[in-house]
Amino acid sequence: KTILPDNELTAWDRDHFFHPSTHMGQHARGESPNRIIAGGEGVHIVDRQGRRSLDAFAGLYCVNVGYGREKIAEAIAEQAAKLPYYHAYVGHGSEPSIRLAKMIIDRAPQGMSRVFFGLSGSDANETNVKLVWYYNNVLGRPKKKKIISRWRGYHGSGLMTGSLTGLAAFHNQFDLPLPPVLHTEAPYYFRRPDRSMDEDQFSAWCAEKLEELILAEGPETVAAFIGEPVLGTGGIVPPPRGYWEKIQAVLAKYDVLLIADEVVTGFGRLGSMFGSDHYGIRPDLITIAKGLTSAYAPLSGVIVSEKVWRVLEEGSDKFGPIGHGWTYSAHPLCAAAGVANLELVDELGLVANAGEVGAYFLKGLKEALADHPHVGEVRGEGLLAAVEFVKDKDDRAFFDAAEKVGPRVAAALLERGVIGRAMPHGDILGFAPPLCLTREEADVVVAAAKAAVEAVL
Ligand code: PLP
Repeated sequence: KTILPDNELTAWDRDHFFHPSTHMGQHARGESPNRIIAGGEGVHIVDRQGRRSLDAFAGLYCVNVGYGREKIAEAIAEQAAKLPYYHAYVGHGSEPSIRLAKMIIDRAPQGMSRVFFGLSGSDANETNVKLVWYYNNVLGRPKKKKIISRWRGYHGSGLMTGSLTGLAAFHNQFDLPLPPVLHTEAPYYFRRPDRSMDEDQFSAWCAEKLEELILAEGPETVAAFIGEPVLGTGGIVPPPRGYWEKIQAVLAKYDVLLIADEVVTGFGRLGSMFGSDHYGIRPDLITIAKGLTSAYAPLSGVIVSEKVWRVLEEGSDKFGPIGHGWTYSAHPLCAAAGVANLELVDELGLVANAGEVGAYFLKGLKEALADHPHVGEVRGEGLLAAVEFVKDKDDRAFFDAAEKVGPRVAAALLERGVIGRAMPHGDILGFAPPLCLTREEADVVVAAAKAAVEAVL
């Protein structure tokens, strides 16, 4: 096997590899770091220089079972030798994809019926929008098509899903959002407009804002609301008390479908199998990806409720086979990875571990950092946590963006052997470690975070 020298690989990388979410010019000119990752074991990754880091973001909140799991690697290899691919169109399937659909429904919240498979969270959300439109067409409501998302929501970076995403960086220069998408307030209690509101009042205010938007647009034009149980990329923000209950009351009043985007929260991250179970959310459609295979192979899905499925079935009887699908829908290799991964999640008790170690980790982070003069809030749920930095603790003023506080703290953390993520919006350091994190490893992350924050601020 040829192992390329570092300088050659680096040159090829700079000259030929168009990286996602990267400053293109700086990368091409060699002005920004290009870390080439060579391997991983447990919660650690190792780069080509042999530097080991504790990956407290599980890649992009996805390597939930940790690195180096032979069971999943073997399942993929066995499936590749037996049947690498056959399509799933016109009723075809493979054993792993059928088994995986059954395993997902067995674990899903009540009332869920079928799974449509894709490859990424983005394509699954594109599927969601199409299903919602199809649903309303079958029901003879062709005007009911608008989709409401939240500012700071993240739902992907395709044309429709980038529109659903409520972060300016994913809209600017791409002429997004597209018109059928509207945004409402983020359930971001720390940044509420009026500090005198308690959590219940703030939740009620978010629900009122949603209702105002639906009424202003006309309820007969609003088809669905999409939200992550815990806002992820927008800052790792758990919902304020009563939020989901109040939002669902508004949606029910105007016959608006609810899409729970569980790409991050699905399969255990909050200490419950789904975020919907965790917060009493009763979705009509659920987006899944990441934790479904722990990213050992790309796979996503839309879990369709019985309520929506009945209408889709009626649609086929009226209009014929549904005109939607990908070549790689239910790819057998990815499905085999999913089956082995979900078995491993059960065998290792990772859902419970995420709840227990998550609570321990959050407590540790709070004890270490909450009193720091530039830490505005330490928050989290399960194994999702964030530290938000402020220039002034009293008025919660933001640092000047040019100070790059978030990225500087993340860099200081990396120097101390731990990977966290400078969240793309605001000065927020995020954590989403593998669900197999131990208390000892949590202690390592907390100590490194404290040292990093003290070094920078
Ligand atoms: N939805 C949520 C909640 C996500 O966090 C992400 C990605 O981080 C996506 C959708 C998009 O998934 P993908 O990047 O696989 O397209």
